Amino acid sequence: MSLKIYNTLTKKIEKFIPINDDQVNLYTCGPTVYDYAHIGNFRTFLFEDLLKRWLIHLGYNVRHIMNITDVDDKTIQKSIQQKKTLFFITEKYTKAFLRDLSWLNILPADHFPKATDYIDQMIKLIKDLIKKDMAYIDQGGSVYFRIKSSPKYGLLANLKIENHQKSKRVLNDEYSKESINDFALWKAYKEEDGDIYWDSPWGKGRPGWHIECSAMSMAELGCHFDLHCGGVDNIFPHHENEIAQSEGATGKKFVNYWMHSEFLLVDGGKMSKSIGNIFKIKELKELNFSAESIRYQLLSAHYRTKVNFSKLKKNENDRVVQRFLSFYNLLKINNADLIENTILPDEYLKFKEKMNNDLDAPQALGVFFVWMKKTTNEIINKKISKEKMGSAWSFLIVFNSVFGFIDTEEALIPDEISSILKMRDKARDEKNWLYADILRGELLTLGWIVEDTEQGQRVSKKK
Ligand code: AMP
Ligand code: ZN
Repeated sequence: MSLKIYNTLTKKIEKFIPINDDQVNLYTCGPTVYDYAHIGNFRTFLFEDLLKRWLIHLGYNVRHIMNITDVDDKTIQKSIQQKKTLFFITEKYTKAFLRDLSWLNILPADHFPKATDYIDQMIKLIKDLIKKDMAYIDQGGSVYFRIKSSPKYGLLANLKIENHQKSKRVLNDEYSKESINDFALWKAYKEEDGDIYWDSPWGKGRPGWHIECSAMSMAELGCHFDLHCGGVDNIFPHHENEIAQSEGATGKKFVNYWMHSEFLLVDGGKMSKSIGNIFKIKELKELNFSAESIRYQLLSAHYRTKVNFSKLKKNENDRVVQRFLSFYNLLKINNADLIENTILPDEYLKFKEKMNNDLDAPQALGVFFVWMKKTTNEIINKKISKEKMGSAWSFLIVFNSVFGFIDTEEALIPDEISSILKMRDKARDEKNWLYADILRGELLTLGWIVEDTEQGQRVSKKK
């Protein structure tokens, strides 16, 4: 049973075979740091987190690079508008981004290269392309990639060159090009750029957005690596152009598998400034969203379907997350964590089969929910063996290492509380309601609220 994924390049579900045995080299396009990242960006970053966690679970050694786009049209515009240095702007939003990633419990990349640290590598790539006649310099000192020199151009995005949509990023590159589809590798300096420029063999200027990712990914992972991800809006022109430049310069295949997550919608529609539905993490925190609840809302849909984010779904999602937490606590109270049993229940194999099928999270979660309900009943009715209890704990830990839906810090129950809960459980079994109530009061004095539910006692810290 091995992992199969949908490869945007071949448009097929394919068996995932890394270049080097159990090593996976993964590049994910990072944020453009001119503003705070929004919940749509985090849909993509969470999909990539799930993919990476699953690869790690399967035993792969993952080297993950996520770039920081710290120079492009938008960052420059913001720095000029706000009369601040480019560095001031990009540092501020890079720090905020890394804080948000950590709050959402997204595993950090092994390295977060910044585009401005790789200008030499970009210049080298552009020089190689000019040498091969795949790029040309215009009179103003801008350099363009010659699309007609790249016979495979359009394969990723499934388009014919004459049908190219004029994307915004391409239109932003309006200098003098041989063909409308050619894209900028190097943009000559304009007065509006203020003091933001680098020297190059073609005069002062700055790199185009696409060459940044080619240079950073190849510098960190080599010319040919396993996996490259982003959101669907990255397919064209960004990733298509990355392939053309990289393969043009090296003459080698660039990336084996491309994966893209679908868009996030808010309340069923596109995010837009005019509607005011672009949620940043800071705003969601103010609305009392927990990281686990956001993770659940965004990861419970398949990554290749559009997901709808809604404030109205908060309570529903909080309840699901609470169920995971209660299950964790139930196992802890029954000392499941102290039983050594790493043999996973049969349901794990079903769960694994679903995840191996192009990360089918909704199906995998379905398997987990059914098993969790069954196991909860067995524990409450004291119809579970010690081995099975240990096995349940192991599955839960695996599950949480992949999805991160349980805040184990929050779930941590001190030993003293755990033993009172056990006494109370016994009192309830013996229908000694008075004693059970006394113990409830004792727990409250110690700062813990206990509720009796169909799934047994549910305990939470008093806020
Ligand atoms: P950017 O900062 O614009 O370069 O975007 C960073 C990442 O967020 C890219 O991989 C985009 O594809 C992704 N992204 C942007 N908007 C959305 C959205 N509404 N839903 C999902 N992913 C998005
Ligand atoms: Zn990129």
